[in-house]
Amino acid sequence: MLETDVVVLGAGAAGMMCAATAGQMGRRVVLLDHAEKLAEKIRISGGGRCNFTNLHVRPECYLSANPHFVKSALKQYTQHDFMALMQKHGLSWTEKTLGQLFCDQGSEAVIAMLKKEADDAGVNWRMGTELFEVEKAPEGGFVVRTSKENWLCQSLVVATGGLSIPQIGATGIGFELAKQFGLPLIPTVPALVPLTFQPQDLWGELAGIALDGTTVSCDRTTFREALLLTHKGVSGPAILQISSYWEPGKPIVIDMLPDVPDEAIFPVAQRDKSVLNLLAEHLPRRVAQAVLGDENRPLKQLNPPEIEAILQRLHHWAIIPSGTQGYRKAEVTRGGVDTAALSSKTMMARDVPGLFFIGEVVDVTGWLGGYNFQWAWSSGYVAGLNV
Ligand SMILES: Cc1cc2nc3c(=O)[nH]c(=O)nc-3n(C[C@H](O)[C@H](O)[C@H](O)COP(=O)(O)OP(=O)(O)OC[C@H]3O[C@@H](n4cnc5c(N)ncnc54)[C@H](O)[C@@H]3O)c2cc1C
Repeated sequence: MLETDVVVLGAGAAGMMCAATAGQMGRRVVLLDHAEKLAEKIRISGGGRCNFTNLHVRPECYLSANPHFVKSALKQYTQHDFMALMQKHGLSWTEKTLGQLFCDQGSEAVIAMLKKEADDAGVNWRMGTELFEVEKAPEGGFVVRTSKENWLCQSLVVATGGLSIPQIGATGIGFELAKQFGLPLIPTVPALVPLTFQPQDLWGELAGIALDGTTVSCDRTTFREALLLTHKGVSGPAILQISSYWEPGKPIVIDMLPDVPDEAIFPVAQRDKSVLNLLAEHLPRRVAQAVLGDENRPLKQLNPPEIEAILQRLHHWAIIPSGTQGYRKAEVTRGGVDTAALSSKTMMARDVPGLFFIGEVVDVTGWLGGYNFQWAWSSGYVAGLNV
């Protein structure tokens, strides 16, 4: 049996940040992963450019059974701390929209940066290593049995991520370990995921059209982002965002022109124009046609209830998704290790000293736009300080 201070399970975003931080604190760290390659999710993120954080990170941008849980870690390690780390390594970024920061040098550069931080801190890597078993050691700490060696460690950090994209190595091992040590779980579902729709709810041949200024709502949550009409349904950032709030059976409501007052859509002064031509001034013509169906009379020939019915379709297109495209297409997993069982300051399990859970395995899910990586960095950092 080999001895070390800390074993980190999972060399993804949170695990690498935690391992580097713990190493910098003078701890002997082993970082192990069953994958041969480091941090596959960082590699594929942001279309290869890694949307590594967001300028507007705040607790409201995270879903969790306890919405206050994220506050401490996000405060201890902020988006500006990560930006400073990038600068230290000579990396630069570009803000795309809504505060989303993408690495100019690409996601490989972010991985290389985290690897260098960990290497400089003396982290011991064990890639391509199967985890067989974890148990409490009689003398305190944990025994970690793997396909390569067995380790005795004082602290064990579970950073094995969620269930999304099993094709690149995601497993539910983190949830199994939580159960083994008696920690409660919040049921998991795919999130930031395309929703599926019944064919009759869709407007046929509109695939490829993007609507930029839409809002999409579910219950009292609304996102104002781009919407994409596809062959299979409706997609784009607005749908991914709302998917995290959607429950089966609930409708989502799309407002295609939230910013245009009704008087500007159908101005009395232009009552001789056809409603199609009027609507096509604000929407792609094919979408305007889909909203109107066969209706194409001049505005002056429509009575108020008819105009109201068109406006209703424009502002309240309510559809009940039939489901989601599942973990194979989901960017993240909602639910996970119940935060009630963890310290928000350290990420340590309240009832199992030395056992930590960080990153996506925890019941914390960020919005689309760099929020999930920031949670990985912040939770990884605070655990690294305390292991
Ligand atoms: C396509 C895609 C694009 C994304 N883009 C962005 C983005 O641009 N911005 C953003 O903020 N978020 C993005 N995300 C979400 C982000 O990738 C995750 O939230 C983040 O990676 C979670 O970090 P983590 O360290 O908790 O888990 P992960 O990064 O998933 O790391 C978990 C690690 O544990 C390892 N592991 C799993 N099971 C085992 C096991 N049984 N034994 C040993 N090792 C195991 C895995 O191999 C992996 O290396 C994206 C996700 C996807 C799928």
